Amino acid sequence: MIIAGAGPVGLFLACELALANCAVLILEKADTPHSPLKQAPFGIRGLSAPTIEALYRRGLLSELELHKHLKKPNANAAQGAGRQAGHFAGIPFLESNIDTSQWTNRLPGSTETSLVTTMEELETVLTHRAAALGVVIRWGLPITGFHQTADGVSVQAGGQSFQSKWLVGCDGSRSIVRKTAGIEFAGTEPAFTGYSSKIDLADPEKLNPGRNVTATGMYLQSQPGYVVIQDFDGGAFHDSKQPVTPEQVQEVLRRISDTTVTISSLHFATTWTDRARQATAYRNGRVFLAGDAAHIHAPLGGQGLNLGLCDAMNLGWKLANTIHGKASADLLDSYHTERYPIGAQVLDWSRAQVAIMEPTPKAHALYAIFRDLINTRDGATYMAGRVWGIHTHYPLDGAHPLTGHSVPNFEWQDGTTISELLSDGRGWLIDFNTDPFLKTLADEYDVLYVAGRAKEQPGLSAALIRPDGYIAWAAASTPDYSELEQAMAHWFIGIPGTVHEKKS
Ligand SMILES: Cc1cc2nc3c(=O)[nH]c(=O)nc-3n(C[C@H](O)[C@H](O)[C@H](O)COP(=O)(O)OP(=O)(O)OC[C@H]3O[C@@H](n4cnc5c(N)ncnc54)[C@H](O)[C@@H]3O)c2cc1C
Repeated sequence: MIIAGAGPVGLFLACELALANCAVLILEKADTPHSPLKQAPFGIRGLSAPTIEALYRRGLLSELELHKHLKKPNANAAQGAGRQAGHFAGIPFLESNIDTSQWTNRLPGSTETSLVTTMEELETVLTHRAAALGVVIRWGLPITGFHQTADGVSVQAGGQSFQSKWLVGCDGSRSIVRKTAGIEFAGTEPAFTGYSSKIDLADPEKLNPGRNVTATGMYLQSQPGYVVIQDFDGGAFHDSKQPVTPEQVQEVLRRISDTTVTISSLHFATTWTDRARQATAYRNGRVFLAGDAAHIHAPLGGQGLNLGLCDAMNLGWKLANTIHGKASADLLDSYHTERYPIGAQVLDWSRAQVAIMEPTPKAHALYAIFRDLINTRDGATYMAGRVWGIHTHYPLDGAHPLTGHSVPNFEWQDGTTISELLSDGRGWLIDFNTDPFLKTLADEYDVLYVAGRAKEQPGLSAALIRPDGYIAWAAASTPDYSELEQAMAHWFIGIPGTVHEKKS
């Protein structure tokens, strides 16, 4: 198994495959994992609920330290004006306005809905885990092309040739794997060039701290001297590939902030855009795409990394089952079917934000309406639900409303948690009513089984949990055994289920 790219998505996918006993080689273009852009503040990344759950379920969440040391908001401040919990197009929504009682799948003791890490911290944790699982990473070996046949893929990198049964392109937005596979990257062109810069200012008092939406764009000063700018130039400067000079940043910053601020030195700067594109297919034969290789969009509200890590969680076990000969013919295709629509929603979410941030009277009018709506309880709850991925689910067949949703964070009477069950990356049949026939079926289909009451088990008597933690089948009361058997056969062993005589 070859993965192109040792970014967070390639590393997490490698961990998933190695956990399932697959041999994994990562070929990485860069000579070293280190980059100042991976460190705070520019390397800061927000993780949302589905990603946090994924890391928790593999025992990785506890290894992220940064968020544990961040100052918690003090309780009085949270009760007063309200703590900012997130934003849409720069418009904050307040924690005190979010009605979490609407999120009935989230049990007490669920993991957090959002937390902060850095690219450096996340990649370090994933690299250590990958190494412990036997993943081999070859640095300084850019993939230049590949050739696939019905039996395998021959990958060219750094003048060498590597053979594999499968190749996954986690090689970022300019993915060579995607281009070589001939997969179209369809979408919309940018409205702005974004600048991330570390600068010294001769007259820092001229800039406001925090996020500032102005008549011509937006600038954000997260810490003194760390400035992000949005310049609505149609992405022209970024696409020109010109070097980002102090003169360029100063000109843009003066114009956007409507000040005469002066940059005395520029330590570093990079540009990006809100170009929104998505691979029209996440698979071509033996080749797959995940992460930024499959989708790009503006980093507004920070969702790209979350999308990519959840791609990896979705794809890893499906590829592993296929490699081990335990997959139905369409299991691998379900990767595109499940992940593409979620990627498309995130791209639209990003486009919607850009549309109301544009420096035009129409956009400003919409912005004012959104600001009012977000300040309501329903508005804040909706925004938080979308930004934190609370309602993420896959459209799986099954009558129970939880089918296709992330499994609630059950805890059994003896203290066993969902995280402990899923830590080795296998699926489970959980049986709250201790039905002996379910145990028989689980044994027959080689699915792990746990019986017993959970502390809370809303509306469920039993559920089949895929290795990625999503519910493949569920019953509210007496199970439909044939439906369960079909689900087990489909997701776990790849042959149609034999329908047992129903228990009387
Ligand atoms: C300013 C900014 C802020 C952001 N904030 C957030 C946020 O808060 N939350 C969030 O979810 N997302 C955020 N994102 C997006 C997030 O950083 C990306 O979506 C994420 O890094 C994608 O991970 P990846 O592993 O797919 O790609 P990358 O991180 O781009 O990694 C790709 C890897 O592939 C390697 N590679 C490239 N070409 C080749 C080749 N030919 N052969 C071998 N290796 C190759 C690269 O060197 C790199 O190591 C932000 C992005 C930006 C720019």
